[in-house]
Amino acid sequence: TPSPRVALVTGTASGIGEAVVRQFRELGHQVLAVDFNEQAKEKADAAGAAFFQADLTDGDACKAAVAEAIKRFGRVDILVNNAGIQHVSPIEDFPEAKWHQIIGLMLTAPFLLSQSVWPSMRQNGWGRIVNIASVHAQVASPGKSAYISAKHGLIGLTRTAALEGGSQGITANAICPAYVKTPLVENQIADQARLHGMDEQEVIEQIMLKNAAVKRLIEPEEVSGLVAYLASDAAGAVTGSSWNIDLGWTAQ
Ligand code: NAD
Repeated sequence: TPSPRVALVTGTASGIGEAVVRQFRELGHQVLAVDFNEQAKEKADAAGAAFFQADLTDGDACKAAVAEAIKRFGRVDILVNNAGIQHVSPIEDFPEAKWHQIIGLMLTAPFLLSQSVWPSMRQNGWGRIVNIASVHAQVASPGKSAYISAKHGLIGLTRTAALEGGSQGITANAICPAYVKTPLVENQIADQARLHGMDEQEVIEQIMLKNAAVKRLIEPEEVSGLVAYLASDAAGAVTGSSWNIDLGWTAQ
């Protein structure tokens, strides 16, 4: 059996983060689930994970989350940067505050969390950073300037962390999913249906799966399975890489 580790996972109230917490607990890892949404506490309780409430757009809250993990468990071995939001609007109208919020949550927070967990990982000579990026870290779509910029930036952060961590036993990798069946996407389906006067099935087939070779949405567990692998001992030679789970979107 693999050795239990201490993991800090962000964005755990629903979707991919919730699935990661569940899977880590099944593997026997100790988990601090971090989210600003109170509902994440019940989910964490149910999975047997600890919970820390934090708005990760606040840098001090990022540092406090890591301090809490170290206070409770003595170290952090695995960091999963997952919390994210979307805002769809053309650049011409994109609200500046939304830009800052998205870059803060999805690029600055992963940087500050990586920085804060680094001493613990370095001291133990073992660390795994898994960044949940997106197919939109590889390609763009109109209307998502802040999200796409943050996700492209997250790949750069991942590669830099991989180079700096190589001699210290710390790996860093990114996962780039296409549309996963989560509340983030369910809300977008509803919004796009209203916007285009389509029904929800048409939005899925004609918009979301337009570029997909495999014509279905991805399950959160399909992403958390890859997170578990990248966070394992077995993945020690894997670093600085970006793993597409994108239904073949970027194969064309
Ligand atoms: P989700 O909406 O189900 O979960 C996002 C989580 O982030 C929620 O628990 C939410 O409370 C939390 N969160 C939001 N703002 C926060 C803040 N300021 N501080 C702390 N927590 C905050 O979404 P999901 O689809 O599971 O997305 C998880 C990650 O996967 C995101 O980074 C997203 O960009 C990425 N992703 C999702 C998809 C998809 O299709 N669902 C595809 C590619 C990448």
